Amino acid sequence: MGPVQIVAATLAGLITVVGIALVVRAVMRMLAVVRLGQPDPERFDRKGARLRTMLTETLGHTRMLRWTVVGAAHWFVMVGFGALVFTLIEAYGETIHPSFEIPVIGHWAVYGLLTEAIAALTGLGIATLIAIRLVNLPRRRSRSRFAGSTFWQAYYVEYTIVGIVVCIFLIRGFKAAGGLLPYPTWAAPISHGLGSILPASLAAITVVALVKILVSLAWFVVIALNLTMGVAWHRFAAFFNIFFKRTASAQPALGGLRPMMSKGKPLDFEEADPERDQFGVAQVEQFTWKGLLDFTTCTECGRCQSQCPAWNTGKPLSPKLLVLSLRDHVYAKAPYLLAGGADAVSDVDAGVPDHSKVNALALAEAQRPLIGGAEDGGVIDPDVLWSCTTCGACVEQCPVDIEHVDHIVDMRRYQVLIESNFPSEAGVMLRNLESKGNPWGAPPATREDWTKGLDFEVPRVSSVNADGSAASFEYLFWVGCAGAFEDRAKKTTRAVATLLHEAGVSFAILGNGETCTGDPARRMGNEFVFQMLGAQNVETLNEAGVKKIVATCPHCFNTLANEYGQLGGRYQVVHHTQLLADLVSAGKLTPVAPIEDKVTYHDPCYLGRHNRVFSPPREVLGAAASRVTEMPRNSERSFCCGAGGARMWMEERIGKRINVERVEEAVATGAGTVAVGCPFCMTMLSDGVNSVAPGQAEVVDVATVLLRSVKPEPVTG
Ligand code: SF4
Ligand code: SF4
Repeated sequence: MGPVQIVAATLAGLITVVGIALVVRAVMRMLAVVRLGQPDPERFDRKGARLRTMLTETLGHTRMLRWTVVGAAHWFVMVGFGALVFTLIEAYGETIHPSFEIPVIGHWAVYGLLTEAIAALTGLGIATLIAIRLVNLPRRRSRSRFAGSTFWQAYYVEYTIVGIVVCIFLIRGFKAAGGLLPYPTWAAPISHGLGSILPASLAAITVVALVKILVSLAWFVVIALNLTMGVAWHRFAAFFNIFFKRTASAQPALGGLRPMMSKGKPLDFEEADPERDQFGVAQVEQFTWKGLLDFTTCTECGRCQSQCPAWNTGKPLSPKLLVLSLRDHVYAKAPYLLAGGADAVSDVDAGVPDHSKVNALALAEAQRPLIGGAEDGGVIDPDVLWSCTTCGACVEQCPVDIEHVDHIVDMRRYQVLIESNFPSEAGVMLRNLESKGNPWGAPPATREDWTKGLDFEVPRVSSVNADGSAASFEYLFWVGCAGAFEDRAKKTTRAVATLLHEAGVSFAILGNGETCTGDPARRMGNEFVFQMLGAQNVETLNEAGVKKIVATCPHCFNTLANEYGQLGGRYQVVHHTQLLADLVSAGKLTPVAPIEDKVTYHDPCYLGRHNRVFSPPREVLGAAASRVTEMPRNSERSFCCGAGGARMWMEERIGKRINVERVEEAVATGAGTVAVGCPFCMTMLSDGVNSVAPGQAEVVDVATVLLRSVKPEPVTG
C-alpha cells in the first residue's frame, strides 16, 4: 500500500464512520417524530398481502409507469441505487488495492456486463429526469408540477447520481487502461472504450475510488442533516409508506372515507365527548403516525399538484404544498413535542416543559395554529383547506401512496365540529340536512314528485311490503336528493326508471322514506350529521330487507357501497350505468336509433377514480351513439367538475371556475353532447356551458342518451 492508498483509505474510513453515525441518529430522530402521531392499529393487518403490494408498487413501479418516460427513467435510477452498491464496496477495496474486485462474483463477465449496463442506464435515467425538471421549471411553465419544490435538494440528489455514475466508469476506464479490468470488451464496452483514451495509473484508480466514496457518503451526511429532504429520504421511507397504506390492496386510499378516529378507534357520536376524545385534527401531532409518515415520504415530485383541479384553476391549494407545509411544521415543532410539549390529545399540559432545552424556533413553531391565515401564522390557510373538491386526483397519482383526502377531511372535521369555522354558505346546506334531510331544504313530502306523469307505476318498497311479506324487488332504486328535487337530475331519474321498466328489472323506491346519504356533510367534516343521516338510512334499508341497490348519483353510490358498512349497512351497490351496460349487453335494452351527435363523456370523480367504474358508461354510450370521443383528461386522469367535497354548496371566489375549465375542454373536442353520470356534474357542466359556450353543447346523463336511442321521440310535423 503506497502513501496515496494510505491517505485515501484513511479518509474513506473517516467519512464512512461520520456518515453512518449521522444516518443512524437521523433515522432515530425520524422515527421519534413519526411516533408522535396517534395510533392506527388497522395498518398492520394482512401483512403478506401488504408485502406483495409494496413489492409490486416499488419494484414494478406500477404508479410511476403511468407516466411512461418519467417512470422508466426513475425505474432505472431506483435499480441503480440498489444494484450499484456493489461498486461502492469495490471502491473501498480500490482505495487500498487498485486491482480489487469483490470476492466470488467480481471477476465474472456477467457481473461486469450487468454493472456496466445498470450504470449506463442509471446515467441515462438521471439525465432524462434532469432534462424533464429543467424543461418544466416554474419560470418556464406557469403551472409547473415542480413549483414550490425545494430545488437545491433535487439538484443535489440528481448531480450526486451523475457524479457516482461518472466515477464508476472512470474507475473501470483506468482499470482497463492498466489491464486490470477482468471483463472482455463485450461485457464492458464503455469502460474499455474509456480505457483506450485514459492513461494507465494505479493512483488515479485510488483517487477516483476515494472521490466516489466521498460523493456517496457526503450524500448520506447531507440527508442526515436534513430530515425534511423527501426527495432523498423517500428512497427508504417509500417502502414503509406503501406497506402501511390504507388497505393491503393495490387501490389508492379513495372511495369511502375513514371514520373519525380517536386513540386508534372509530368515534361513535352517541358516546363521544370532545373533552375526552379527539375530534378531527387541530394540531399536527393529532394526525396518526401514518399521516406523519406520509408527510415524511413526499418526494416533492408534484404529480399530485399537476392533476389538482384547484391548483390548475388558480386556487391557493396544491396537495404537494399542503403536504410539505405539514411536514416542515411537524419537524420544526418536533423538538418541542419531544421535550414533553402539550399533550395534544387531551390538551392537558403534560408538565413541560423545560423551555430552556427547546430551541426558540421550535417554541415559535408550537405556537402556530394548524389552520389559520398569514396574519395568524397559520400552517394551512383556510382557503387552502376549503378549496379541495376531494376529487382524489392527488391520491390517484401519488407514487408513494400519500392519503391527502383523508388528511384534508380530518382537518375539516375539527374546524366544523369544534370551531364552527367553515364557509358560511355551506351552513345553509348543513341546516337543511338536519331539518329537511336534503341539502336543498325541499319539503320531504315532494320526494316522489318526479314519478308524476310517467306512463307506468313506480313501485314503492312500502307497497311491495304491504302484505307483510318479504320484499320481492331485486333492486332498491336509490333516487338521491338531486334525483328527487333538482330539475335537471329529475330527468335522469325518470330516464333510468323508464329504462329499468322497459328492461323488466324488478325494482322499488323508498320514496319519502329516503333521506340524504350524508355525503356532503361528511366531506365537509360534519361527521355528526353524516352519522345521524346514515344511521336513519341504514335502519330504513335494513328494515326493507334491501340487498341490492342501484344509484344514479356517484356520491350516494360511494356512500352506500363504501361507508354504510361502518354503520352496519352492507349492500351490493351498482351505479345505474353499470346496470344499464349489463342490460344492453344482455339484449334487454336495444338501442334502435344511434345518436348522431358527437358525444364526449365526463368521468365523475366519485364514479371513476374513487370507485374505478370507467368502462360501463362508455359501453352504454358506444351502443347508443355513433360518434364517441374522449377529452384529453379522461378516466383516471379525468378533471373534476368542481362540485365534490361539498364544494357544490360553497362559492368559488378564487381563480378560474373549475366547471368552466372542464367545459372548455369538452367543447374543444367538437362534441355537441357532453354525457355525464352524476347529477352534480350535470349541474356544474350545464352552468359552465351556459356561461362560456351557450348553445354549443348539451349536457345530459348517459341514461338519457340511451333512452333517446332505445325509445326515440317520434318525429312530429
Ligand atoms: S382531492 Fe382533488 S382538489 Fe383536493 S387536493 Fe387532491 S387533487 Fe386537489
Ligand atoms: S404526488 Fe405524492 S410524492 Fe409527489 S409531490 Fe404529491 S404528495 Fe408528494
